[in-house]
Amino acid sequence: MQAEQSSVYTPEHEAFRDTLRRFLVEELTPHIGAWEQAGIIDRSFWRRAGALGLMCPGIPEEYGGPGGDFVHQLIVSEELGRCAAGASAGVALESGLPSFHILNFGTAEQRRRWLPAVCAGEVILTVAMTEPHCGSDLQAIRTAAVRDGDDYVINGSKIYISGGINADLALVAVKTDPAAGARGVSVLLVESDRPGYVRGRNLHKMGMRAGDTAELFFQNLRVPATSLLGPEGGGFAVLMKELPKERLTIAARALGASELALALTLDFVRERKAFGQRIIDFQNSRFVLAQLHTEIACGRAFYDDCVARVLRGELDNSRSAMAKLWLTELEGRVMDACVQLHGGAGYMDEFPISKLYTAARIHRIYGGTSEIMKYTIARAL
Ligand SMILES: Cc1cc2nc3c(=O)[nH]c(=O)nc-3n(C[C@H](O)[C@H](O)[C@H](O)COP(=O)(O)OP(=O)(O)OC[C@H]3O[C@@H](n4cnc5c(N)ncnc54)[C@H](O)[C@@H]3O)c2cc1C
Repeated sequence: MQAEQSSVYTPEHEAFRDTLRRFLVEELTPHIGAWEQAGIIDRSFWRRAGALGLMCPGIPEEYGGPGGDFVHQLIVSEELGRCAAGASAGVALESGLPSFHILNFGTAEQRRRWLPAVCAGEVILTVAMTEPHCGSDLQAIRTAAVRDGDDYVINGSKIYISGGINADLALVAVKTDPAAGARGVSVLLVESDRPGYVRGRNLHKMGMRAGDTAELFFQNLRVPATSLLGPEGGGFAVLMKELPKERLTIAARALGASELALALTLDFVRERKAFGQRIIDFQNSRFVLAQLHTEIACGRAFYDDCVARVLRGELDNSRSAMAKLWLTELEGRVMDACVQLHGGAGYMDEFPISKLYTAARIHRIYGGTSEIMKYTIARAL
């Protein structure tokens, strides 16, 4: 079953998509079993992606990127969703996303220092916001950065950090003024080799088992004040500015994975027989598949409209929250129905649908939960 593609993508976007698909088949799929066992992806994966311009496709050439647009970054997410091995990989290639924070808020020195290395896959980025006691309520973070001469001294901890083990540079949300609420939040660029930067456990997850997700601890960790990304107290703005586009990457991934799940399930039910007929020939199977196909096609139309808005600079918070809410909730329904149509096979690791099912569950939680999406949408009504 062919995914329905719209005219929003240029031939250049489609050429990029082809390169990316080949890369995932050649450089992710053959290794995913070993990386799942290890609970971590080998760093060579990032360097290979960097060499082909796949790490940060939207970063301009003067900073080492291939000079594409954000749609290229969205294609990365969509294709990771549409690749069975992507379900185990976690954010992997999407770790290039925070490069946009550095591009938009970094000083000239910060951009020069970090962006070429991130684009080359030499430096792996992560964003560390969530703490053991708070995730949705970002302004409640407690990790403190106290000014001491020309330095900040950081103490605190983070949890559930994607790439927390592999990352070389973390964009860490800290409190620089505990009394100032959201205006007391700042972002610091923190190298993982600084004394006092301690990696905790690589957490064991329900799905996406090849991608590392870790605890981080900061113990009297010193960084120069020049590590501030954006102004002191401006951390919320730094983190929120890119949020609509970032949320769309999660919607993209959910859509790609939904399309893949439906295609895999169609193959399965055409082959498998029960009571002397193919599973696809039962009326119930046909109705379920018709419903999913229709809902995915509607989701695709809304998503492609969002992509067009990205290109016009018109994607707002509310619309991207709608895309994330709808497409990730739809993905949940798609995965559940597709596992059901596989019968017992759907519960087995050797059938990709089982990993797509567990990977999908996180999409309604990270990047803002479905409930937080509803707040965002309701605010604009
Ligand atoms: C695999 C994985 C990777 C992650 N990667 C990262 C990362 O790289 N960096 C990072 O910083 N974080 C990361 N996270 C954390 C993730 O963003 C948070 O888990 C998420 O934002 C939810 O926060 P929480 O877990 O604290 O849940 P809570 O905020 O405690 O929410 C618990 C429940 O209460 C609901 N709730 C909360 N507030 C309200 C409200 N006002 N009204 C109604 N319901 C509400 C939520 O929707 C949810 O259902 C990751 C998490 C996972 C599992």
